[in-house]
Amino acid sequence: MNIIRDVLKPISKGMKITMRHFMEPKDTVSYPEAHKEQFPRTRWRHVLLRYENGLERCIGCSLCAGACPVRCILVVAADNTDEVRYSPGERYAERYEINLLRCIYCGYCQDACPTGAIVLREDYELADYTRDSFIATKEMLLEPLPVRDEVAQTAK
Ligand code: SF4
Ligand code: SF4
Repeated sequence: MNIIRDVLKPISKGMKITMRHFMEPKDTVSYPEAHKEQFPRTRWRHVLLRYENGLERCIGCSLCAGACPVRCILVVAADNTDEVRYSPGERYAERYEINLLRCIYCGYCQDACPTGAIVLREDYELADYTRDSFIATKEMLLEPLPVRDEVAQTAK
């Protein structure tokens, strides 16, 4: 065995590579304390959006469910009334659920939605402990009311 050729040269080559990368900026972050910035078109957890006046964008049309290639969206629509209105349209989604275990995050639901109600955003922290927690309900998906509406509701 040649000590120089078989031992020292490979070690020195490895150390050179290590030292070169040691001086470069890091690609990793100290997760979960730090998070990497996501690309603008990242598609992770869904959000059901509202209009600025607080009404839900979703009109319960089920086009998202029809476009979903893995059939993981459930929409149950109901009628708005003059007394109780959730969306500007005739109907709203009384029940809206996505099975996140089946979802492949393709974004077809977002593309199919005529009102821009369902969007996939940058929240990628999807891990959980039970299978049930991966059924994202309407309450989990719907974005909060605008602050002024929360204040108005509290004042009632
Ligand atoms: S992202 Fe794709 S798979 Fe997931 S709910 Fe939407 S259409 Fe279905
Ligand atoms: S999210 Fe969009 S496509 Fe799906 S039911 Fe609501 S309005 Fe229709």
